[in-house]
Amino acid sequence: MSSLTEKDRPIVQLLLNAGTCPRCILRFCSVGSQMLYRHPYKDLMKVLKEFLKNGPEKEDTVCFDVVDPPCKRIRLEHPEEGPEDLNHNGALQQIPQVNDENTAVENSDVKVCNVCLGILQEFCEADFVKKVCQKVNSADYQFTSFVFSVSLPPQLSVRERAAWLVLKQEMRATACPDCFKPAKNKQSVFTRMAVIKALEKIKEEDFLKHFPCPPSSPKNLCVALEIQCNNGAVFVAGRYNKYSRNLPQTPWIIDGERKLESSVEELISEHLMAEFKADSFNFSSSGREDVDVRTLGNGRPFAIELVNPRRIHFTAEEMKRLQQTINTSSDKIQVRDLQLVTREAIGRMKEGEEEKTKTYSALIWTEKAIQKEDIAFLDDIKELKLDQKTPLRVLHRRPLAVRCRIIHTMRSEYIDEHHFRLHLKTQAGTYIKEFVHGDFGRTKPNIGSLLNRTADILELDVESVDVDWPPTLDN
Ligand code: ZN
Repeated sequence: MSSLTEKDRPIVQLLLNAGTCPRCILRFCSVGSQMLYRHPYKDLMKVLKEFLKNGPEKEDTVCFDVVDPPCKRIRLEHPEEGPEDLNHNGALQQIPQVNDENTAVENSDVKVCNVCLGILQEFCEADFVKKVCQKVNSADYQFTSFVFSVSLPPQLSVRERAAWLVLKQEMRATACPDCFKPAKNKQSVFTRMAVIKALEKIKEEDFLKHFPCPPSSPKNLCVALEIQCNNGAVFVAGRYNKYSRNLPQTPWIIDGERKLESSVEELISEHLMAEFKADSFNFSSSGREDVDVRTLGNGRPFAIELVNPRRIHFTAEEMKRLQQTINTSSDKIQVRDLQLVTREAIGRMKEGEEEKTKTYSALIWTEKAIQKEDIAFLDDIKELKLDQKTPLRVLHRRPLAVRCRIIHTMRSEYIDEHHFRLHLKTQAGTYIKEFVHGDFGRTKPNIGSLLNRTADILELDVESVDVDWPPTLDN
């Protein structure tokens, strides 16, 4: 077990006189054992004073093991107990050579630490730990592991530097700078970073001019502004079908005005939000379809990130029920293969998106009458290369460019003199509507130019999105 040694004596003396709390003194002495820090503040104070009182031959007697279990229990069970009550207790009498007078002085005179502003005093005591526990319990989260994250006031860095400089000066020794690093798990904000940066830049003599070393004793204890609970995001993936030609994938809002009342992402996520009790969500998918395009077949892969969910554990059966809930609540969409996935797995949906293939079915109208033979040649065209200028309809939000896309195969289905259905297998990212009507010559070749007559698209369906993620579930 690590403990204080004789070389620490002047450090303990100096910091104690300056109004530094026992836990700060321990860390400035590079005491690494967590156990020591867990002792109640008052006990630590007593032991440090003992350490100073005893001669060097007794340095090894600074051992906290003896008082640990009983004291800890007492503090937890009787947090309100005054000093006189503690004296009746057998456990505390195990601390060597502590007289009543000393105890009384220490208990009535707990100064706010000039380095940590009391953070390692009050907030290490059972009362505050209880407060944190109550907050966690009342927040009603499901979790299997957790990170305790503390956001510290930026001035702590300055105070630490001041304490460190004075030690360096007085000791005339180069102490290990690692010992003086602020506590980990801090959330960084600009001001904090600025303070740290400034501390890195400032010369020691300038710092000494601007800040009292050792740091002055503060009047007030640092207060805990907020105890916050947060769960890491969980991810749900699946495939969706869209059966409506009047439903956008994401909320359709122009100039703050809503154009259509719902969207694919809302129809799916409202149920997930309710079940996972999340704060918010982020929807992503493998490509997207226009508001008037249906997505049929096996559907389009999607993933939803649920931010700060309260509930995170779902069995396969529960996910299946959730899927049923979504599916029975709307006839505009259906979902399948609904499952929990990892953040990393979502990358698979996005990777190589351009290389993936998609199949479509388009209902096409021609101005001039057609016979079956007029369109049969389309079936023989393979790997047709297109040059597509950014379509007029998306030019307001996409840069003007010419992109090369490939129609892998086509299959025509004659309907009547002015209508036929075309099944296409294309490279992802191909603008199908433009391939049919030509977009005023901006897509070359196009169905109009191939048939040598004006053509337009009446209906478009996505028949499959060839992404083999998420895994298919049998149900
Ligand atoms: Zn302190």
